[in-house]
Amino acid sequence: MKNPENIPYDIIITGGGMVGLTLACALGNSRLKVAVLEAFELPEISPDDDYDLRVSAISRASQQVFTSVGAWEGMKARRVSPFEYMHVWDATGDGVIHFDAADLGVDVLGHLIENRVVQLALLARIRELDNVDYLCPVEIQSIEVQTSSKQVLLADGRRLSARLLVGADGANSKVRAAAGIDIEQSPYGQKGVVCVVKSSKHHQYTAWQRFLPTGPLAFLPLKDGRCSIVWSADNERADELVAMDEADFCRQLEQAFEYTLGKVESVGERAAFPLIRRHARQYVQPGLALVGDAAHTIHPLAGQGVNLGVLDAASLAQVILDADWQKKDFAAYATLRKYERWRRGENSLMMHSMSGFKKLFSNEKPELSFVRNGGLKLVNQLGPIKYKFMRHAMGLEGDLPEIARTIGW
Ligand SMILES: Cc1cc2nc3c(=O)[nH]c(=O)nc-3n(C[C@H](O)[C@H](O)[C@H](O)COP(=O)(O)OP(=O)(O)OC[C@H]3O[C@@H](n4cnc5c(N)ncnc54)[C@H](O)[C@@H]3O)c2cc1C
Repeated sequence: MKNPENIPYDIIITGGGMVGLTLACALGNSRLKVAVLEAFELPEISPDDDYDLRVSAISRASQQVFTSVGAWEGMKARRVSPFEYMHVWDATGDGVIHFDAADLGVDVLGHLIENRVVQLALLARIRELDNVDYLCPVEIQSIEVQTSSKQVLLADGRRLSARLLVGADGANSKVRAAAGIDIEQSPYGQKGVVCVVKSSKHHQYTAWQRFLPTGPLAFLPLKDGRCSIVWSADNERADELVAMDEADFCRQLEQAFEYTLGKVESVGERAAFPLIRRHARQYVQPGLALVGDAAHTIHPLAGQGVNLGVLDAASLAQVILDADWQKKDFAAYATLRKYERWRRGENSLMMHSMSGFKKLFSNEKPELSFVRNGGLKLVNQLGPIKYKFMRHAMGLEGDLPEIARTIGW
């Protein structure tokens, strides 16, 4: 890698998470010089490694973006776990909805992939790109956004500058703070407890979700027959679930899941992540843009967080590359507003739907139980509406960026 000291870049992306790396790949092979700044090194995965705690349901639309930027094969070569069915039901009634990939004429609905696998494959692709420098590990000392050329000072004394600074640095974004961008924030009062479990019955390549009055519980299928679970529960209960001994946890989990996959025989390391709904009031300023969790965080009940971020990255890349191709200023406010108008609307819609779902399903009032169970049954029976729901879950609805589109879907 070239010495980056005082090198002016066209674009600096802070944060080499799944979203920042997707953006860098999507800008690959262009005439724009791009730097990605990441704080932590990522160890390569070996087939003997146990599954990581952080696993995401990757939609068909995100898969298409990863394919378009040349990273999907790298994910498959490491490990991905396909699922063909989704089964969702309500703990307080008989409402059930079941999705089958075959109904859409496709082989899978999506894949469960460790976040690290997504990052490693994108990173491998970035290393093949001449116009992208990956700087890691770095510590950002200060960010200067008031000038037309954005400046990032690193703790080792290097000063980087760029016409466009992108914050892909997650929920507590330093770029967002430096730009003084405010967020709407409402904690769900819950944490998502995650771990890998072995149940006595096979998962049948199904993403299972049971809505309990206390929060949704998902069993997500892994290739080796185990499941990655996300159990959303009020903060205190979530802390209890993490702290209790393994036998107790297995017992409570199999009961909460109605023994759908039999007994829970073993469980790996557990962790709980606070669930907070956040939405940046602006995604852009002149010469600055936010993508992914830096712009929005959402309840994981529909597994959409990173999928929205991947579409942000693909859309922003499209807006930038289109402007540059037309010899317009890709960092100008008018250009970046196109990205903001596009993605803020799409993301708001998803966030409000998830909040509505969360409220509807975490309420024990009999009339609401009647509505949601009736609704689940109705959607399950009505072909066109069910088809629309499936396409939403697969990330195929809405105004998709070009690299997320596939002919025939
Ligand atoms: C329990 C749980 C389950 C989830 N399940 C799903 C799911 O099934 N499907 C789904 O789509 N989403 C899911 N999500 C959401 C998903 O994990 C996030 O949306 C996603 O990780 C966001 O990616 P990102 O790249 O925007 O941010 P991050 O993953 O937060 O990455 C930000 C990166 O920036 C780096 N960084 C931060 N600050 C600095 C700095 N100052 N200098 C340098 N580098 C910096 C960090 O080290 C990190 O690598 C889930 C979330 C939770 C909590």
